[in-house]
Amino acid sequence: LFYESSMSSEITEKLMLENDLHHALDNQELFVEYQPQINLQTGYITSVEALVRWRHPEKGLISPGVFIPIAEESGLIIPIGQWILETACKQVKQWQRAGLPSIKVAVNLSLGQLFQYDLVRMIQDVLQRTELESQYLQLEITESMTINIDHMTTMLHQLKDLGVTIAVDDFGTGYSSLSYLKDFPIDCLKIDRSFIHRIQTDSTDKALVDMILSMAKHLRLKVVAEGIEEVEQLSYLIASHCETVQGYLFSKPLLPIFLQENYDSIQRN
Ligand code: C2E
Ligand code: CA
Ligand code: CA
Ligand code: CA
Repeated sequence: LFYESSMSSEITEKLMLENDLHHALDNQELFVEYQPQINLQTGYITSVEALVRWRHPEKGLISPGVFIPIAEESGLIIPIGQWILETACKQVKQWQRAGLPSIKVAVNLSLGQLFQYDLVRMIQDVLQRTELESQYLQLEITESMTINIDHMTTMLHQLKDLGVTIAVDDFGTGYSSLSYLKDFPIDCLKIDRSFIHRIQTDSTDKALVDMILSMAKHLRLKVVAEGIEEVEQLSYLIASHCETVQGYLFSKPLLPIFLQENYDSIQRN
């Protein structure tokens, strides 16, 4: 009985959030933070990942891990996803105009968006409206999206034709076969934080990271290691010639103004 009632209150909570999410865009409750990715050879910020946040009027900050799945199930991911993309492209263009070095922005795509019939056109329109050159946009997909290989292959080639790049997020956690690496026009692998976490102490994690780095090198893919929190993790990745890192050690996701103000100190870190 307890189980039943806690289940139903969970569902009620979700329905309430979904209802509120319908108004979140119009009420300007969504905003985007940006987390730097640092090239380990130069020490420079080469790109940022756009991460959406929801400031709920009563409940406060709600994590994207909670509301993105709700947006997916309700179809709201289509307008919300477009808003995130447009906001991110506009921001990076604005940084360019403010005189910061040109950097890429990585935007997360969700499964629902990849089945949006006009996704490619929508992205093309956003690039045109924001005047961001397509080489500065990277799209992040996950292995869980590789269910429909034919559809994805077509889709990703059309996106590549726009001039954007494609990264596989959370690489190695999807229990998927690696054969999609042959079919998909992929540019970058993001090593999931769960592998980085125990890189110093767990020989399996260490072996997996080594394997991913070596595979990426042979396939001529770029690599971003996610979730770097400790200096020891960084040292290991430098020694292993990992190209790029992202994590709290360098910076958490930041509001645009804080990223701009701290740009140089993040790089020198
Ligand atoms: P993700 O795409 O794997 O994003 C990385 C997550 O790791 C972010 O959490 C980021 O804040 C967090 N992170 C970064 N560095 C560190 C670190 O050093 N240590 C730890 N413990 N965490 C770190 P966040 O922002 O809460 O996002 C969670 C997930 O929600 C994302 O995982 C992504 O799947 C989804 N998400 C976030 N923003 C968007 C978006 O704009 N669109 C879509 N479709 N999904 C999004
Ligand atoms: Ca991501
Ligand atoms: Ca990730
Ligand atoms: Ca994730």
